[in-house]
Amino acid sequence: MDIPRYWRLRNQRYRLEGTECIECGQRNFPPRCICPHCKSDSLKSFRFSGRGTVYSFSTIYQALDTFDKDIPYSIALVKLDEGPLITTQLADVGPDEIQIGQPVEMVIRKIYEDGENGPIQYGYKFRPALKE
Ligand SMILES: [Zn+2]
Repeated sequence: MDIPRYWRLRNQRYRLEGTECIECGQRNFPPRCICPHCKSDSLKSFRFSGRGTVYSFSTIYQALDTFDKDIPYSIALVKLDEGPLITTQLADVGPDEIQIGQPVEMVIRKIYEDGENGPIQYGYKFRPALKE
């Protein structure tokens, strides 16, 4: 990913920043320019809590070179506490330990390295929520 794109996406990747519709209150992630619910363009940024539950998941055993070191890893649809479903990689959990409905929380992790000396990309993943 090029540097300008990286900076544009930093709030989305590190702070889980989406949008909230001022007209109808619907919250979206990733951020939208137009509310998909009521078509309003009156949106404000909204920072999600980073908590949710596993809605569905799938484990990857073959991947592109950049992700090879992580195999096997699991991709999940996570339902955020505030409503939206997002696609994310799961961290700190084996494929046999994941359950539908399991509480998860966002963490910032390395996503991939762009070659031997290239930049390392970080972003969000979700892990099982720590017991409180
Ligand atoms: Zn709306």
